[in-house]
Amino acid sequence: MLTLDEALARLLSAIRPLAETERVSTFEARGRVLAEGVRSSLDVPPQDNSSMDGYALRCADVREAGTLLTVAQRIPAGHVGQPLQAGTAARIFTGAQVPPGADAIVMQEQCEALGDEVRIGIVPQPGQWIRRRGEDVVSGAEVLARGTRLTPQALGMAASVGAASLTVSRRPRVALFSTGDELVMPGETAPEQMRPGAIYNSNRFTLRGLIEALGCECNDLGIVPDRLDATREALRRAAQGNDLIVTSGGVSVGEEDHLRPAVQAEGRVDYWQMAIKPGKPLAFGEVRRADGSHAWFMGLPGNPVSSFITFLLVVRPALMALQGAPAGAPRALKLRADFDWPRPDKRREFLRVRRNEAGGLDLYPNQSSGVLTSAVWGDGVVDNPSGQAIAKGDLVDFLSFAELLA
Ligand code: AMP
Ligand code: MG
Repeated sequence: MLTLDEALARLLSAIRPLAETERVSTFEARGRVLAEGVRSSLDVPPQDNSSMDGYALRCADVREAGTLLTVAQRIPAGHVGQPLQAGTAARIFTGAQVPPGADAIVMQEQCEALGDEVRIGIVPQPGQWIRRRGEDVVSGAEVLARGTRLTPQALGMAASVGAASLTVSRRPRVALFSTGDELVMPGETAPEQMRPGAIYNSNRFTLRGLIEALGCECNDLGIVPDRLDATREALRRAAQGNDLIVTSGGVSVGEEDHLRPAVQAEGRVDYWQMAIKPGKPLAFGEVRRADGSHAWFMGLPGNPVSSFITFLLVVRPALMALQGAPAGAPRALKLRADFDWPRPDKRREFLRVRRNEAGGLDLYPNQSSGVLTSAVWGDGVVDNPSGQAIAKGDLVDFLSFAELLA
């Protein structure tokens, strides 16, 4: 058996980032991975500006509360004032540039407007309510590094330094197919028409959603029957035009499991028994294309929770690596277990849990790898080392699904 870390190390030493990049509008770039960092050629904010609606003044003019100043100018956001003369104040609004000579803003709630004058109700401190030029970004600084996956706030950051388009990695193209003669499709077969032995193909929906959530293009090839020739044919088709082929089911060592021999015949495959639960079997390899290049292949187990968890733990880092994003281990939070787990497995386990309002973790009672309810009810997993019993109150490592899919 391989540990998860050994499996990941092998995978990530094989997979290189895709060479192609593209220039996309910043509007269209959410979820993409930067192939070039973004640098600022200006200070943000570009000038000192007011963070309040109020009055800009010189602190030296206001030695005591109740001082009267002449309001000599009015500066809305987007407009530029005149240098502030001694003994005067400027009516100013949030975001407006602070006029030269002013060294503080007093918020309007602390002032009384009296025609052409204003009574300043406090003694201001130098610098108060002024946002300094460059306090967010200094000209020349890199604001987003290469390899960053673009969140909405990162898009805003790029826009704040004037970047209207960004250089990103090409989206990986991922072919997906499900194996299993028992599988039928929702919409094609109604629940009351299900033949004995049939089940709905749920992995197709879960895996496609995961692939798309990670910024990749999913080319869905549907269901492939449990036959060697059909499996080989599907692999050949999937290898054309795709960077990675992801499959579910048919990777165990049973007589009906044709994926490994099929990939072996069409390329090369390693079969890994990973020491994790759920999700032990994983096939990793490559499928030849007509032009001699190859597509990567990752065969996931068929059980719905196993394929979901192995996707998050193993396929996700591979998809990140193809896009040139650092595929570091997901960040675990130390949280309190509000449950007992007295009989741990020899393998490293990923237990479906949910955060409760008391800041602890509740365990889904049925941890079977076929029970998809656990992954819907849960909002993450406890990463439990092999052989480690858990008692109520222990601190455990929690990995959130939200973070794994961010
Ligand atoms: P396998 O890995 O092919 O031996 O399948 C293991 C278990 O997962 C079996 O109970 C299958 O019926 C089930 N399974 C396989 N593929 C799917 C799928 N696409 N959707 C839901 N369950 C599946
Ligand atoms: Mg099967």
